[in-house]
Amino acid sequence: MQGLKGKNVLVTGGTSGIGQAIAVRFAEYGANVAINYLKKPEEAEETEEQVHSCVKRMQKHGVRDVLVGADVSNEDEVVHMIEQTVEELGSIDVLVNNAGIQISRPTEELSVADFEKVLAVNLRGSFACAREAIKRFIATDTPGAIINISSVHQRIPKPGYLGYSVSKGGMQNLTTTLALEFAARGIRVNSIGPGATITPINRAWVDDPDKAEMVTSHIPMRRAGTADEMAGVTCFLASDDAAYITGQTIFVDGGLTLYADFREPWSSE
Ligand code: NAD
Repeated sequence: MQGLKGKNVLVTGGTSGIGQAIAVRFAEYGANVAINYLKKPEEAEETEEQVHSCVKRMQKHGVRDVLVGADVSNEDEVVHMIEQTVEELGSIDVLVNNAGIQISRPTEELSVADFEKVLAVNLRGSFACAREAIKRFIATDTPGAIINISSVHQRIPKPGYLGYSVSKGGMQNLTTTLALEFAARGIRVNSIGPGATITPINRAWVDDPDKAEMVTSHIPMRRAGTADEMAGVTCFLASDDAAYITGQTIFVDGGLTLYADFREPWSSE
């Protein structure tokens, strides 16, 4: 992929799942990666090991990685994380807003605190990281790129996960509004919308064959996605191959957003 070699990339929530795969893929393309962890640097050890072995395998000498701690729902920690990234890598060219959580609860039982907790990580955290990255892009006249890891649930409602659904709906607007605000400066903002993806967030069904079968039966391509499939599209959106794309969401979902119920005609004779 063009234009990723030597770029400095920060991936939030880089310790597992999609974020981990994204960090490794960027390193594969020769980018330096700042891997964000939530509490302890040990959380990021597995990602770092994978980055190192990938760099070795690809013979990408000079690719660097740093571990940067922050709870993205804490503004001060976000400010410090971006400062540390710039200090240790020299600059920031790409931000991947990947950190995310979900809380499952029937809405009539959902506390305001839990609703706010999900929004604070998924949406407010993405805004805070974007704002700090954009400040740097502007200060250094960098044609930076931001990729938000949204979800099919920015489009498809998700009952029982209200905070999550609302946060991803908000992420769509975060993407388009920032894209428009900063397009003339050469700063691009895009999203990917993963469908069901095999990662720890989906522990409830990935390890249970019956539940996994139930999940895949709803997916037009009849399988869940992999974190690596999300990583490839994320890198594409950060690359020069996507230089004229901004404000878009690419759904990486095996057809989940295609209204599978309409596979057979039922609404007309
Ligand atoms: P995951 O649970 O493996 O990863 C989530 C990451 O976010 C972890 O590294 C975790 O430490 C980090 N994180 C959580 N709270 C944080 C905070 N306050 N500050 C910093 N980091 C924090 O799950 P995943 O599936 O890899 O999810 C990654 C992103 O992909 C999320 O935004 C999620 O909504 C999105 N997504 C996942 C799926 C899926 O099916 N797996 C589908 C659509 C969208």
